[in-house]
Amino acid sequence: MDIQRIKSDLSEKRAELESRTERTHKHIYQKDEPVSANFNEQIKQTENDGLVMALEAEGIEEITQIDKALQRIDSGTYTQCQHCGGEIGESRLLAIPYTDSWIGCASYACHNAELGLKGPGQLMEPNFKLKEQLL
Ligand SMILES: [Zn+2]
Repeated sequence: MDIQRIKSDLSEKRAELESRTERTHKHIYQKDEPVSANFNEQIKQTENDGLVMALEAEGIEEITQIDKALQRIDSGTYTQCQHCGGEIGESRLLAIPYTDSWIGCASYACHNAELGLKGPGQLMEPNFKLKEQLL
C-alpha cells in the first residue's frame, strides 16, 4: 500500500473540505440578504440554513477524521484498528482512507452509538467472524 500517496490524497481532500466549510460557514453567518418579511419565505430560508449547517457539520467532522488519519500515518499506526489493535485491511483503507477501524469494530461502533452506549466498558464485542467475510 502506497501510504505516501494516501497521505497526499488525504491532504488534498482536507484542503477541499476546508474551502467548502468556509463557504458554507459564510453562507450561514454572513448573510447579505435581510430576513424575509414573508412567513413562508422565512421557513424556506430556515430550511436552507439547516441543510447548509448539516453540510458544514459534516465537513468539519470529515476534516477531524482526516487530521486523525494523518496523525496515525505519522506515528506509524495507520493500518491499526483504534478499537482493538487489529489490522484494518488494505481494501477498506483504500475505500475509506480516514477510517480508524476495521469493518467489524466500525459496524459495532455504529450499533453501539445507535443504542446510546458510550465508553469502552459498555461496548459490545465486535463480531470477528465478519472479518473473513468482509475484508
Ligand atoms: Zn477493532
